[in-house]
Amino acid sequence: MKQKIYRIKNLSCANCAQKVEEYLTKQDEIHRAVINFTNSSLQIKYKDEELEIVELERRIHTMNSDNVKLEALDVHQMSMKQSIWTKESVNLLIRILISGILAIGGFIVFLALKQWNMADMHYPFWELGKLSGNTRELTLFWSEFAVMITAFLLVGYDIGWKVIKGFKKPSTMLNENFLMFMAALGAIAIGNFFEGALVLILAQVGQLFEKISVTKSRNAVIDAINLRPSNANLIVGNDIHVVEPSSLNVNDFIEIRVGETIPVDGVVVRGSGSLNTMSLTGESRPVHVGQDDAVMSGTTLIEGSLVLRVEHTFENSKIAKLIELVMNSGSNKGVMESFLQKFAKWYTPIVISLALLVFIIFPFAAGGWVDNWTQGLYIALTFLTVGCPCAILVAVPIAYFCGAGLASKNKIIIKGSNYLEGLLRISEVITDKTGTLTKGEFTVIEENVINGTKDDFINILLAMESRSNHPIAISLKTIYKDTVISAKVQDFQEIAGFGLKAIYNKNEVLVGGQKLLLKEGIEYPQPNEYGTEIYVVLNKKVIGYIVLGDMVKDDSTIFIKTLKDQGVKVTMLTGDGAKNAEHIGHSLGIDNVVSNLLPDEKVAYVEEAKKKNKYSTIYIGDGINDAACIISSDVGVAMGGIGSDVSVDNADIVIMNDQPSKLIDAQKIAKATRLRAIVNIVIALMIKVGLMIFALIIGKVNPSFPALLVAVLGDTGLTIVCIIYSSLLIRKKITPTHKDIHEDKCTKDHCHPH
Ligand code: ADP
Ligand code: MG
Repeated sequence: MKQKIYRIKNLSCANCAQKVEEYLTKQDEIHRAVINFTNSSLQIKYKDEELEIVELERRIHTMNSDNVKLEALDVHQMSMKQSIWTKESVNLLIRILISGILAIGGFIVFLALKQWNMADMHYPFWELGKLSGNTRELTLFWSEFAVMITAFLLVGYDIGWKVIKGFKKPSTMLNENFLMFMAALGAIAIGNFFEGALVLILAQVGQLFEKISVTKSRNAVIDAINLRPSNANLIVGNDIHVVEPSSLNVNDFIEIRVGETIPVDGVVVRGSGSLNTMSLTGESRPVHVGQDDAVMSGTTLIEGSLVLRVEHTFENSKIAKLIELVMNSGSNKGVMESFLQKFAKWYTPIVISLALLVFIIFPFAAGGWVDNWTQGLYIALTFLTVGCPCAILVAVPIAYFCGAGLASKNKIIIKGSNYLEGLLRISEVITDKTGTLTKGEFTVIEENVINGTKDDFINILLAMESRSNHPIAISLKTIYKDTVISAKVQDFQEIAGFGLKAIYNKNEVLVGGQKLLLKEGIEYPQPNEYGTEIYVVLNKKVIGYIVLGDMVKDDSTIFIKTLKDQGVKVTMLTGDGAKNAEHIGHSLGIDNVVSNLLPDEKVAYVEEAKKKNKYSTIYIGDGINDAACIISSDVGVAMGGIGSDVSVDNADIVIMNDQPSKLIDAQKIAKATRLRAIVNIVIALMIKVGLMIFALIIGKVNPSFPALLVAVLGDTGLTIVCIIYSSLLIRKKITPTHKDIHEDKCTKDHCHPH
């Protein structure tokens, strides 16, 4: 399936975004379309061939009257800050200012001319007859109309035009533009010229501020994760050209200077230095690199200087992947978001019906709540402005966007708001052992050569392990790094969950645990130590074994304890033998340890648990031979960061360093985010209902009160407040769970700084 990302311009509101999204998803060629209003991006998954931009635009124009423009977006552009003052927004601001001065200035002048008598100001067009013969009043009426209608048109002609075009597209007609324009037009009709002009001015101010604050919160997310790649210093002969990372080709040579972020993945061909890999791995310790070392884009050179050979183009580099992940983190919608989208569809028609009802019933029924039908119309117009669903639609997504941004800042990538929601109520956390709870850095704690020399034993072991990428293999390669392998293995097979099998010097060799030997029907001796046993079998006979010990991460203890305190069931799954697994499980306080599992049995366990559990079943692993578990759980968490493609692709949440306790931090972020989303939505609804009640009451008590203006202010102001309140989330400090315990232990007399 092909995926493309576009920048989508000129969409006027979240409501329109939702409709475009639904419309596009219904297209035959398109599997799914998601608009991230915050990020003004459109993400399309095509079934096979992609559509041309012109064709996409054409189709959008058939259902949406905004002059939508699309632009293919590459990852580099996605990571750039957007400027707040674009040509369009400056234009709009100028129009707002001129029409504002005109309207307010005009209002004061006419008020003076009418001898500061507010009550006498308004004549609906249909009551103009009352003024016949009164030349002064008539002149005032028409000249005020002329001034205000000029301001009205100047600031609102584009809205009006969209509304007129919208009549041809009834399914999407009822949007913010329509409601505001009708309210303004209504105000003009009943003679409230100034109010009519001001409604449109405020609506535009609202849209402008909304755009600005959305852009600002998006920029804040970009700032927080600090992932903007620097330019690249391309070496051409003896010269250095400064170019954009996206223009680099594989095998180009680039120079990296101190303080620069590595723009693309590459290999060091000259020089050496230390890299800060914080942004990718969350690890604060610098990593030293020299000749022939691979370096990942996104890391920063803090000391030394390097010349790199480009190994991946920018788009295929780690940094691009990360940017893409972070900037699209909202693409899976959570329950709350989907619910509100459905709700918003009903909200507007309901409020409009209420408005109609007020208009029809009020002047006549209920003993005449208001004196005349003009007043009833006025209250109905106020209802119309309250009918804008914008705040309701923006409130939750913006909170989640900022929540995902906060998570990224804390080195946790969350791929959708549904996963953030999934952390709120957890039934069971299932964890992998090796590399997840333990460091996955093995040491040899027992060594026993039964047949032949130790050298032969180690030689065979290493020849086998050199072909594997299992944590066991990686450790053994480091432990025995001085051994020179004398012969190569043939017909190498890695049997997941069991071990390795191959032909070595025409002999059949097996390397693996007791399970492998049982399967092959081979007798084996029992070691003395607790640990992961690795037997070497030559022609069906054990020639020796080693026992590997692995250390539990400092972090795991607090991770498990916190989960248990929350009443979450914790299960450890492992392919390791029962003895060792129970030993480690016990030391961490895990009650439920399932050992001797093959990879597919682990998946079966996860599937089964998912059926039994009421709330989310979470799997956390290191992504090495447990990708299937990560996929099949409700929320799959991969640790060890962006380094491993497998985990990044399959996981719902990626923890960029090796600390499982980051999951607890993610949970804290999920709670903070949900709180903001709920506060936003509750306040939005309360203010909206409040405004309607207010309009009803004030309409009776003080008919000349400009309730319509209060409603417009309330509505647009509300949206902006929601956005700002959400974007403050990015600044929130999340205390790392692991550190928490450290600080708890720290008393006044005994304090060991980290
Ligand atoms: P875990 O659940 O601890 O991640 P795996 O399912 O990856 O374990 O592996 C299970 C067992 O298979 C190991 O404990 C080991 O006995 C054996 N094994 C797997 N890969 C290797 C290897 N490269 N070398 C030796 N033994 C291996
Ligand atoms: Mg594993």
